[in-house]
Amino acid sequence: MGYKRILLKLSGEALMGEQNYGIDSKRLDQYAQEIKKVHDSGIEIAIVIGGGNIYRGVQAEASGIDRVQGDYMGMLATVINAMAIQSALEKHGMYTRLMSGIKMEAVCEPFIRRRAVRHLEKGRIVIFGAGIGNPYFTTDSTASLRAIEVEADVVLKGTRVDGVYTADPEKDPSATRFENLSFDEVIQKGYNIMDMTAFTLCQENNVPIIVFDMNKPGNLDKLVTGEKVGTLIS
Ligand code: UDP
Repeated sequence: MGYKRILLKLSGEALMGEQNYGIDSKRLDQYAQEIKKVHDSGIEIAIVIGGGNIYRGVQAEASGIDRVQGDYMGMLATVINAMAIQSALEKHGMYTRLMSGIKMEAVCEPFIRRRAVRHLEKGRIVIFGAGIGNPYFTTDSTASLRAIEVEADVVLKGTRVDGVYTADPEKDPSATRFENLSFDEVIQKGYNIMDMTAFTLCQENNVPIIVFDMNKPGNLDKLVTGEKVGTLIS
């Protein structure tokens, strides 16, 4: 497959590991090791991390908080996760830069596309925090947008399931996994992979998406070396 530059999207919830909330240090360490393997093989890596383990904007209204305010809270939550990932990667000897969609000079650089690309070219792992910096978006849309902006070859969406199935494998034991799907098939059949904004951004800009299980050790490395892991949408 020969990926030169990848964008890895991790959900905030994945960082909880076995916990009910927050960040599980074991999980963080495991992810850092997985990422290091890929980084050592010379692939340029950008990362977008969600915030669902800490806060989601949609929760806000239920608790009487204005939606936009809630979305900003969600974006700040992603910065906390991004900082956690950053230190885990650095502990394993990788060079990193955290770039934020909301200005926060003390902890991260502002997102500047050309600078992000330069970091990647120099072999630094670039983590995009604070989403795109606007309410009513998700970190999936951030992943798609940043992938397009830095010209990543693919969006790798790490989840708890190892791909897209004909039905929910947790409910229907006869469900089977697709190895490949087209963007149109996903839309026609209503498979829920990302929100529509995120999905159509990839579709319109020909950025393939791979949905895979990030929690299975070795999966990320297999994927970038061309093994059939997860579901490829192209
Ligand atoms: N968010 C936002 N704009 C963005 C990215 C994120 O408003 O560009 C907010 C939104 O409220 C979202 C929250 O940040 O619910 C956390 O991100 P997300 O739910 O995508 O995280 P994940 O589900 O991947 O953990």
